[in-house]
Amino acid sequence: MTGGPVAAIAELFGTAAARDYLGEPVTVAAHMLQTGALAQAAGAPPALVAAALLHDIGHLPLPVRAKEHEERGAAWLATWFPAPVTEPVRLHVAAKRYLCAADPGYFARLSDASVHTLALQGGPLTREQAREFAALPYAADAVAVRRWDDQAKDPRAVTPDFCHFCGVLEGLLS
Ligand code: FE
Repeated sequence: MTGGPVAAIAELFGTAAARDYLGEPVTVAAHMLQTGALAQAAGAPPALVAAALLHDIGHLPLPVRAKEHEERGAAWLATWFPAPVTEPVRLHVAAKRYLCAADPGYFARLSDASVHTLALQGGPLTREQAREFAALPYAADAVAVRRWDDQAKDPRAVTPDFCHFCGVLEGLLS
């Protein structure tokens, strides 16, 4: 594989850090690949497939300083990718907090690990915060990523290789 951002991302997916996803039965890499595959299966446009695939890249070692993984991931990706890719990544944790407020059945379907992190992430949004979130550009895309994210923790799922998505990513580079 040649250089460039897609090769750099492929390398990150192969790092030891991508093998550990605290409290979940899949690796971070498998989790992201499954999220991307679910987006693709749902017929999402390329930028949203990329956002789904890359939403947790901030859990991997990036040369970016930011406290939250969604901010690290979005900031690093913004070097190469446009807002339709980076914004759903940046908002995917807020989308979880939003769904806890807006969708009555959502909280009950969260994994134990995700319930644990919800508290650390600030808990459900208030009614007012939920209204503000829903009005943000890319809020709907972030919610879509979040729903695939929550389903992408299946240790038995058939998971595509990273380069299944290489063409999609190359086509989005800005
Ligand atoms: Fe995730």
